[in-house]
Amino acid sequence: MEICAQSSSVALKFDIPKYAGSVELPKEEKPQENPPKTPSKISVFLDAGHGGKDPGAQGNGLNEKDIALSIALKTGEILKNHNIDVKYSRTTDVFVELDDRASMANNANSDIFVSFHCNSFTDSSAKGTETYHYPGSAEGAKLAKSIQDSIIKNGVYNGDRGVKENTYLVLKQTKMPAALVEMAFISNSEDANILKNRQNEMANAIAMGILDYLEIPYNETSEGLYRVQTGAFSQRENAQNLVDELKAKGYEAMIVEKGGIYKVQVGAFSQRGNADKLAEQLKANGFEAIVVR
Ligand SMILES: [Zn+2]
Repeated sequence: MEICAQSSSVALKFDIPKYAGSVELPKEEKPQENPPKTPSKISVFLDAGHGGKDPGAQGNGLNEKDIALSIALKTGEILKNHNIDVKYSRTTDVFVELDDRASMANNANSDIFVSFHCNSFTDSSAKGTETYHYPGSAEGAKLAKSIQDSIIKNGVYNGDRGVKENTYLVLKQTKMPAALVEMAFISNSEDANILKNRQNEMANAIAMGILDYLEIPYNETSEGLYRVQTGAFSQRENAQNLVDELKAKGYEAMIVEKGGIYKVQVGAFSQRGNADKLAEQLKANGFEAIVVR
């Protein structure tokens, strides 16, 4: 192999002057000495609300702090797969002051700030998703709208409460475009079910909204991650039926919409072998399964 490689490289060297007809051309063939500078990565700051001694809202057996953290981390993973530099106000169950959340993002020089919360109301019939921005912040409004629209478009919601303005401290003190998403009502049983059981879909929808704002194309195959696809449908309803069927058997499935096709996917693995194992298991349970990347 070594010899072959050498001889072909020698052949190439002799070939160049033959086509060249000029002594200048070999210079152009020379590898660049200074590689092009990599543009600095876009930085997104994700703020999981509450934490530690502050559980946030509580309802239907859930703590807001746990849901916010879990979905913020999942969102971050998706963004990282799009070559985005992701920073967090917390990655564990710790208390962080509101002032500190904003200054952490400012010190990190992040490009955008997104805060994750769950809504709650004394009347348990209140439900749905709403996203906030600081009053008068045009970019904040744009970011909030991208996130809200994505959650609605992806169907992971129980009511569209729209984009709203609020003077929340984290929106006020952050120097970059900022949005705060109230993903669903922890005090409503249907919404609580979304918060507990559809976290991957919610994270995916929020990540897609952030990417849309940043004008970064969403890469469904999220480079480096293997997923098991169990179906692809033109009707969301059919995809949802399959998701329900998978969930009934204990699989955390999600719908990924692209170009009007609703793909049902389970799992996300960095090791191909793990995706293959899951695909085998799904097949043994009567599902169709192919590994996609
Ligand atoms: Zn909250």
